[in-house]
Amino acid sequence: MNTFCPICEQETEINKIIESDEIDIRGEIISVEKEYFHCQKCDEKFENLHPEMDYMDFAYREYRRRKAWLQPEDIKVFRDSLGLTQQQFSDILGIGVATLNRYENGSLQSEAHEQLIRLFVDDPSLILGVLNRKPNLLTKSEQEKLTDYLHQIEKGKSVLVRKTIENLANYSPDIFSGGKTFDFRKLIHVFKFFCYNSRIYKTKLNKLLFYADYLHYRDYGVSITGLRYAHAPFGPVPNNFETWLVASSKWIEEIESEEVYFDENVGETFMSDDPPDMNVFQPSEIKVLQSIKEKFLGFSCREITNYSHDEIGYKNTKDGELISYIYAQDLRV
Ligand SMILES: [Zn+2]
Repeated sequence: MNTFCPICEQETEINKIIESDEIDIRGEIISVEKEYFHCQKCDEKFENLHPEMDYMDFAYREYRRRKAWLQPEDIKVFRDSLGLTQQQFSDILGIGVATLNRYENGSLQSEAHEQLIRLFVDDPSLILGVLNRKPNLLTKSEQEKLTDYLHQIEKGKSVLVRKTIENLANYSPDIFSGGKTFDFRKLIHVFKFFCYNSRIYKTKLNKLLFYADYLHYRDYGVSITGLRYAHAPFGPVPNNFETWLVASSKWIEEIESEEVYFDENVGETFMSDDPPDMNVFQPSEIKVLQSIKEKFLGFSCREITNYSHDEIGYKNTKDGELISYIYAQDLRV
């Protein structure tokens, strides 16, 4: 390919080369593969001023991805789903319309604005409150339409949650569920039992659930929650746990979840300000829950993960496979 070399100022034969470069976005160092031209006459390299990739756009997207922030199209799709113009949506948010327009077109949002927009994305019904406080934002008919829509979302959400949970729990009691029908209410209170006033990593919580259910099966012939557990890279986990968490977002709201950094990874943690209702449990279940809590009290995520890797039931299963409660007899607790 021929082009003009700005260094030796001649029309020359050039090669495209790719070199890694680093862009600093608010303290996050992001690597980008930049395109350069190499001049065969003077052996110098110079930047391609019209690269195929927009490096800043790439870096912003990577920055948002690392922080689990909204991408520009997420904001636009959300606004469109509400049938709002940029002007109307920015009035609801209380930010400038030019700012919102920039965000939808690729500018990097401020952290405060990310949190603000995220609030509404996570719970669109918050808009109802804003519309009540600022009744002149929309015309009467626009307001009615949006209000109807938001009420529908609310209703749809709870139907969806119920259906998802019904589907996930649609298995008969057998050796994979510890001889028990799934008990959603008990799961919630086991969750609260472990997370009440203490911040627990999801990785650790998975193991605590596993040990409590299997220990109760070993000693009393039946599990506590009826959950099925599968072999995952970080140890035994409740089967379809991620889907559970999403479907259970309603009750998860009672249990505060937060992303924290550890071992260079991001981990989700849970904490509940709300105490468990111990009346839902049998005395034997309370005994088992307390002994598991005590046993693993000082264990880090890594320690309990390593510990669970030595369970026979874990060793004898492959990734994704359900772990039979038969293995409870070999449990290392
Ligand atoms: Zn040159």
